Amino acid sequence: MLSCTAPVHQPRTLDEAVAQRAMHPFATVLAGGTDVMVYLEGGTLNPPAFIDLWKVNELRGITETAGTTRIGALSTWTDVANHALLPGALKDCARTIGAAQIQNRGTVGGNIVNASPAGDSLPMWLVLDALFEVRSWRGTRMVSAASFWQGYKRTALQADELLIAVHLPPTSGDVRYRKVGTRLAQAISKVVLALRVTTEHGRVGDARVAFGSVGPVPARAPEVEALLTGRPLTESNIDEAIGALAITPIDDVRSTAEYRNDVARRILRAELLAL
Ligand SMILES: Cc1cc2nc3c(=O)[nH]c(=O)nc-3n(C[C@H](O)[C@H](O)[C@H](O)COP(=O)(O)OP(=O)(O)OC[C@H]3O[C@@H](n4cnc5c(N)ncnc54)[C@H](O)[C@@H]3O)c2cc1C
Repeated sequence: MLSCTAPVHQPRTLDEAVAQRAMHPFATVLAGGTDVMVYLEGGTLNPPAFIDLWKVNELRGITETAGTTRIGALSTWTDVANHALLPGALKDCARTIGAAQIQNRGTVGGNIVNASPAGDSLPMWLVLDALFEVRSWRGTRMVSAASFWQGYKRTALQADELLIAVHLPPTSGDVRYRKVGTRLAQAISKVVLALRVTTEHGRVGDARVAFGSVGPVPARAPEVEALLTGRPLTESNIDEAIGALAITPIDDVRSTAEYRNDVARRILRAELLAL
């Protein structure tokens, strides 16, 4: 039973939200609350106040300008799954996050800032070269997905900053997403894979491979990408590239390091062979 009595600030505009973040840097930001409520229920979070963003409609919406897609941080996974502008693999990812209740309430921004190594969308942002729009009373800055997650549940956000939106540059190539959990729905990932590959004249032009749940932060696999680039996607080239994969997963309550190592290689192989 929740017994938190901290005050809840409820901004209605983005300016109000930014001002309240500046005034209450120790408050917990609340978007959909699907992660925060679990921490409150588990007794691991006891903030002095909350800043509830849910009524800040400026943080919603998925738009496109000059080929760049902007996803408001408060967009839910249902919004993502149903949007025509977004890559199919990102929609596939959205449909694996919890079940309908979580997808209707859980937000893109919450998943990103929660920074769980098992956050399903995180590897996708890496392969899509996403930029995160971050705002505080000091101004707006863009942070690349590649530099956003800095350690276990640690991000590049300063105490007075809010994540405002995700920007996706035009996407080229084949984008794939795979999640391995105990079940197809309502399962925390044991391994997540995102992949983006362009091919030119039968050879790989550009390869991006990123894993989640196999380390403290989601990360690309540059050793694999380098061995794929410039070569045809033959079985032997794929196996050579996968042989170089240098992940160091851990044993935990959800899986073993050995299983994660094996499954990461198997799903990467399957997805590359299917391209
Ligand atoms: C039953 C259940 C199943 C789930 N299944 C999955 C799953 O399959 N895959 C998965 O990846 N996750 C899963 N989750 C976790 C969660 O639903 C997602 O991470 C979701 O996207 C979080 O979004 P939210 O808006 O609810 O975040 P919140 O709980 O509101 O916030 C999460 C964190 O982000 C911060 N935050 C949120 N928005 C902002 C912002 N705009 N600026 C700054 N800080 C912000 C909050 O302060 C908090 O620290 C599950 C959770 C539950 C309860």
